[in-house]
Amino acid sequence: MAKVKLEGIYKIYENGFEGAKDINLEINDKEFVVLVGPSGCGKSTTLRMIAGLESISKGDFYIDDVRMNNISPKDRDIAMVFQSYALYPHMTIRENIGFALKMQKVDKKTIEGKVNEIAKTLKLEELLDRKPAQLSGGQRQRVALGRAMVRNPKVFLLDEPLSNLDAKLRVEMRSEIVRLHKKLATTFIYVTHDQIEAMTMGDRIAVLNKGELIQFDSPLNLYYHPKNRFIAEFIGSPKMNVIETNLHRDGSNYYVDIFGQRLALPISKTKDLLRYTNQNNKILFGVRSEEFSYKANSNIKVKFDNVEYMGSDTYGYLLKENNEVIVMRFDSSAPISSNIVIPIGINMENTYIFDCQTEECISFPKKSSGLSNLSIENLSLKEELVKSDKSKITIETKEYQKVN
Ligand code: ADP
Repeated sequence: MAKVKLEGIYKIYENGFEGAKDINLEINDKEFVVLVGPSGCGKSTTLRMIAGLESISKGDFYIDDVRMNNISPKDRDIAMVFQSYALYPHMTIRENIGFALKMQKVDKKTIEGKVNEIAKTLKLEELLDRKPAQLSGGQRQRVALGRAMVRNPKVFLLDEPLSNLDAKLRVEMRSEIVRLHKKLATTFIYVTHDQIEAMTMGDRIAVLNKGELIQFDSPLNLYYHPKNRFIAEFIGSPKMNVIETNLHRDGSNYYVDIFGQRLALPISKTKDLLRYTNQNNKILFGVRSEEFSYKANSNIKVKFDNVEYMGSDTYGYLLKENNEVIVMRFDSSAPISSNIVIPIGINMENTYIFDCQTEECISFPKKSSGLSNLSIENLSLKEELVKSDKSKITIETKEYQKVN
């Protein structure tokens, strides 16, 4: 059992800067939780407070209901894997993996058995007598995982463990870590700045910004139910298009002004929009790239500044006056080229409305309402997702459509 709870956690540095502000997280036993956010948002600070490498300025931190604030790092039953691998260069891989047990004065035979078992799990058997310098980045990262595993910790903490690897290896290591998590059945807390890594690995994701926890949710809920504009733009690739525009009210009907047209919003959104009582209201209109389609005879017409043919999809880019870019994704069979007029459709059901002042999300796609408790339990699906460098969303959306 390893339930991790953070209650009102703050990190206030000596210069008064608040690196983490009122972080509240309840992580379940065996859960894989990812802390994600832009650089400097407080992810490492939070992880380091859990590890005991950084003191907690305010708030309470528990593992299995035992308060840990003043427990020394070595007594927290936690193992941490660092981005830098932190291997001892003069020791062999065997010695590196077994080091923690040697320090605990465990007998040689037990250490040997344990190291061999771990080497088998991590496919390091052939490399045990080498030194770290003789290994590739991916192999070194596996040794770093092995060093953490040997201690049989209650909680694994991983701080950007894949950032030193090249893109291809990173994708491979993602699925290895997900598989390892399933096998070890232990709580994992994983820090990354990469939203695709977060989406493809986490059971739940805690998104931080400027030291605050903005939303803690399943990958799909973050994608379909973002709390605000920040989450909507941070999660998903390409980034959601968010356009400042006018919401027009005519009786009980609502319209948005976009691409030179006044487009009706579906009835399903009316309830969300009742707060907008004026005839014209400033709002932020959100639409993801996949909600556009080629539609001959459509009144909505655009002229792309740039078009990218990716093989399976085609991306069209529109440059707005303020230099922001609107991205639309089309099926590769759609006749899309730059600098000619293209008629397009927008799936208005799947659009978002954000309040202009608070940037809070007021209206979500209605198709997402049944997803609120959905998490990716199925490992084979998760593996399929982590194999792909594209966001898993494409696949999951298809899965969702199949079910419905
Ligand atoms: P990240 O999300 O990139 O892991 P960190 O948790 O490392 O961010 O840092 C969060 C914020 O705290 C950053 O703005 C960083 O500059 C600041 N910070 C980190 N360490 C200190 C320190 N010792 N004193 C003051 N500010 C710090």
